This record gives sequence, structure tokens and C-alpha cells, in this order.
Amino acid sequence: MENRNQKAQFASIVGIVANLILAILKGIVGVVGNSKALIADAFHSASDVVSSIAVLVGIRAAQKPPDPEHPYGHGKAENIATLIVAILLIVVGVEILTDAVTALFENEYTRPSTIALYVIIFSIIVKEVLFQYKKRLGDRLNSPALVADAWHHRSDAISSFVALVGIGLSLLGSQFGIPFLYYFDPLAGAIIALLVMWMGFKIGKDAVSVTLETVLDDGRTKKFELTTMEISGVERLDMLLARTHGSYVIIDVKISVDPHITVDEGHAIAARVKEKLVDKHAEVQDVYVHVNPYH
Ligand SMILES: [Zn+2]
Repeated sequence: MENRNQKAQFASIVGIVANLILAILKGIVGVVGNSKALIADAFHSASDVVSSIAVLVGIRAAQKPPDPEHPYGHGKAENIATLIVAILLIVVGVEILTDAVTALFENEYTRPSTIALYVIIFSIIVKEVLFQYKKRLGDRLNSPALVADAWHHRSDAISSFVALVGIGLSLLGSQFGIPFLYYFDPLAGAIIALLVMWMGFKIGKDAVSVTLETVLDDGRTKKFELTTMEISGVERLDMLLARTHGSYVIIDVKISVDPHITVDEGHAIAARVKEKLVDKHAEVQDVYVHVNPYH
């Protein structure tokens, strides 16, 4: 188990370091080589670095045990980290979009140089290698988080491919004197900016819905209801609400029991409900049981 975590952690560090190197390389060459597409892609890699670090920090904070001030635990630290990253992605996206669109309307737009093309090809290769590495490791370790991470690298490769097309067409334009093609470099930059903003919007939406403790829908509470009704002493299930708290679930349940049993017996039934729900469903962190008399 320890070994599995170590391998997964190592893989995420490899990803962060690779993204950091790519961000610096693409940023410098993008500025020196006059490519808006490459600059946009550099920002994409930089925001990937920040979001990976935020996730690592968030997971660590979320693992802290409950304390008197935070009796429900620190599970939401992870969501807060995600929310910060989401806002960052949208802000960065708007910034590079403005930059790229401004370049589209410039008359004296300077064309990218060939070195931008080499760097973007290098970026695509690195991303594909990272995808293969993490996908295989994720499948082997049976880690959905790692597999999801792998697919992110694949989507980064697509972002870099958009930049490649933009840079390539701009270069062709200057090679053969077709001014119309010059605009494909900033256009690719604008598309990548939209991609980054969309990424921010998507992860932000998930984080907000967890932070607001969205109640799980009927499909996802059904199994909890079935477990509760199986327990001896539960005459009727009056209400069951499950809400997410960070990456785990908290359940509020009202049950009806025989009105003639003692308080002690009623309490024992409630305790069994809690125990069974926590035991049977790994995601359930805590259960609050209210006992009604059954008539
Ligand atoms: Zn990315």
C-alpha cells in the first residue's frame, strides 16, 4: 500500500516538474520567437503546475484529523484549493485571450520564428510520453486519479497541437508571402485561452457544488436507504439525506421504531444504523440518526 502511494506520488511530481520546464521553455521562446500561441500554451502549462501543487496541498490539509474547531474534519480544504485554482485559470484565460485578440487586430504583427515550431513539437512529444507513462501506471495501480491525470496530459497535447497548427500556418504564410495566414498564430493563442477558461469553469463548478453541500440525488442515496431498511428494529425509513463534505459523504436519517421499546433499545437501533452505513459504504464519514415512534 505504501509502495503504491509512493509510486503515485512520484508520478505526480514527474508531471509537475515536466510542466514547469515546459512552461519556462515555452514562455521564453514564445516571447523571443514572437508566438502568441506558444505564450498561451506556456500559461496553460504554468497553470497546470499551480493546480497540481494546490491539489497536493489540499489533499494533505484534508487528511488532518477533526479538531474542536473543525469537528466535521478538513475535507473541504481540497475543494477550497480547487476553487482557488479555478478562479486563477479563468483570470489567466481572460488575460491571454485579451493579448491574443489584440494581436489579431495589430497591423504590424510580427511573425513567429522557426524555433517556436521546434519547441511546440517538443512539448507535444513530452506530453504524449507523460500520458503513456501515467496511463499505464494508473491502470496497473488501479488508480482512477492517476488515469484522470494521464488524460489531462493528453488534453494538454491537444492544446499544444492547436498551437502547432497556428505557428505552422503563420510560418507558411511568411514563407510564401500569404499575409492572411499570419493571423493563425494569435488565433491559436485565443483558442488555447478559451480552453484554459473552460477548464477553470468546469473544475470550479464541481468545487462549488461540493462546497455548497449539494444533496446527492435519489440514484445515489438509494443504496443508503436499502442498507438502513435492512437493519432489524427499523420499522420505517422516514427520511434520508446524504450530502457531500469534501470527498466524503455525511448522512442525516430519520427512522421509526416500535414506540414501546426502551430508550436504551431505541438507541441501540440508531447505533446499528450508523455502524452499518459507515461499514458498508466506504465514502460515508458520519451518520446522524433521529428516532421517531412508529404508529
Ligand atoms: Zn493542462
